[in-house]
Amino acid sequence: MMNKDDIKTRDAREYFENWLGEPDSKSGKWSFYLCPFHDERTASFGVADDGYKCFGCGKSGDVIQYIEDTQNVDFKRAVEILGGEIGDITPEIVAQRLEARKQRIDAEIEKHQLAIERLRNEKKWIEYQQNMNQRARGLWLQRGVAEWWQDFWSLGYAPDFPLWEKRGEEWVQWWSGESIAIPLKSYGGSVNQIKHRFIEPPTESRKYHQEYYNAGQHPFIADVDRQSGALVLVEGEIKSMVTFVTLDTADMQCVGLPSMKPEKSVFEQLNGYDPIYFIPDPDAFKKRDGSGSAAGELAKTLGLERVRVVQLPQKIDDAINDGLIDKSGLYQLMKMGRRYA
Ligand SMILES: [Zn+2]
Repeated sequence: MMNKDDIKTRDAREYFENWLGEPDSKSGKWSFYLCPFHDERTASFGVADDGYKCFGCGKSGDVIQYIEDTQNVDFKRAVEILGGEIGDITPEIVAQRLEARKQRIDAEIEKHQLAIERLRNEKKWIEYQQNMNQRARGLWLQRGVAEWWQDFWSLGYAPDFPLWEKRGEEWVQWWSGESIAIPLKSYGGSVNQIKHRFIEPPTESRKYHQEYYNAGQHPFIADVDRQSGALVLVEGEIKSMVTFVTLDTADMQCVGLPSMKPEKSVFEQLNGYDPIYFIPDPDAFKKRDGSGSAAGELAKTLGLERVRVVQLPQKIDDAINDGLIDKSGLYQLMKMGRRYA
């Protein structure tokens, strides 16, 4: 993917220091950052002089491709954004790179489609639903999701979910434990992904696990029959459930984001909503080096004119479960939502 021989650029590490600041760590030829393409706590996004490679999610490319993928523009526009610092670009190179981008997108779509098809065929989530016992129902209830809603969203449970890791040529099960399982459905109700929340995770950063690595990110859509109108947008599945129940109306949607760096396909599923009341976690308002806060970036991508940002001192589901916010409090908060500026 790296085209060092085609296109001469400056050392990619210089660009990335500009964009992402000082690297978290360095090792050999690599400078490591937290990956801009997937959520992680330990930096595994390596930048070398000719481009980047994430050792977590596998994304790789050169600086031009980075601009293409993060700003969702084509090769020509990416070169413009880089400010003409890149010389010797012939029409052949432009044509090649446009074709390469098309192929990357096609491959991505195909990969996701295959994974989704497999998931539908396996109907694994039905098995998790069948596992629901008194203990599992209690675990859901502790998080503020009553039994009736557990069935409505076909929530599930895995008493001993295994995590695997490739060591050399062999796949090794390195951990297993209890999880509560959430089927992520598309509009209409078919299941695209299963998210696990471990009860006692192996590490704090491994609390959540997507069952299908290649099925892409999918939001939690509380009402799969509603694609337009007002939306309350929160971070995460369980927050979405608790907020939706508290809204207590058939006239409003509530969606939980899979992460604060959602893939483009996640944003596309939110195209029909206006207004959007966005209630992020408190830490999403922290400013990052060289750019705005995660909450601000997300509001901008959604379109500032339809987004009202609500800033709370604590997580919305905690506030509801602790009895600090009830139905009328939630509506008051939404009224207090402001445009992000
Ligand atoms: Zn990554």
